[in-house]
Amino acid sequence: VWEDLLRAFEPGALSISFIRDFWERLREESLPDVAMRLARIRVLNASSPLLNDDPLPMEWKYEEVNLRKKESRKAGPVYSGLHFVALCRSVLSGTGRSLSEILRTVIVTSQRLATHETDRWHLRTVLMGAPSVISVSGIVEAPARPREYYVLKQSDPILAGEFLKARTDWLSHDDPRLTPVLRGFILQAIQFILDPAGFAFCDVSECVLSNPHWQAHLVRTHAAERLSLCPRHLALSRFVASAKTVPEGTPP
Ligand SMILES: [Zn+2]
Repeated sequence: VWEDLLRAFEPGALSISFIRDFWERLREESLPDVAMRLARIRVLNASSPLLNDDPLPMEWKYEEVNLRKKESRKAGPVYSGLHFVALCRSVLSGTGRSLSEILRTVIVTSQRLATHETDRWHLRTVLMGAPSVISVSGIVEAPARPREYYVLKQSDPILAGEFLKARTDWLSHDDPRLTPVLRGFILQAIQFILDPAGFAFCDVSECVLSNPHWQAHLVRTHAAERLSLCPRHLALSRFVASAKTVPEGTPP
């Protein structure tokens, strides 16, 4: 199915329109409402599935100030990822996007997003949906750091910090390797957009469409200069090489 899908597209059929700041699309009068909705979808603690239904005025204010900050927006609270996707969807449809356009939209955010599974919240790197959302903080914080780091951290946090400095197989928040890493996650989202019902992470650990649980794996597959794709997904690299960027507003 996957190969057939790729063949169904003419070379150059993938056109990408890039929006610099998604939140800038908000009208001034809707900022307080979106800020309130963000404050409400905060995760309260790591184990409780309850969200912040009744935010404090300072929490609401924080979100409003942060939305206005543009380039220097902070990433602090953890939000329910599924609710965050729904909020993005409502903002996009409020700015005139159709559902099929929203399904083909990928948002990259610095905010921390989590989903509640079994008995606790887990940070997520990417949430596939309408739209798909990739969390840069999640890429840095969700896949586990080297096992030795956690052992050291319990006995000596300073030594644990030094241990990390000596290693290169994990990402920091200002890591230049985040750019190639994001390329891999955007490809995953494109794979979802092409075939939402058939989407699954690749089970070949060297493939950029796999789902790394460890930083070392993430750095090895996603941060490489050349795209690392398994034989089944290799066609995607030829397809993406023919992609063109179109000015914003061009029908996708
Ligand atoms: Zn693969």
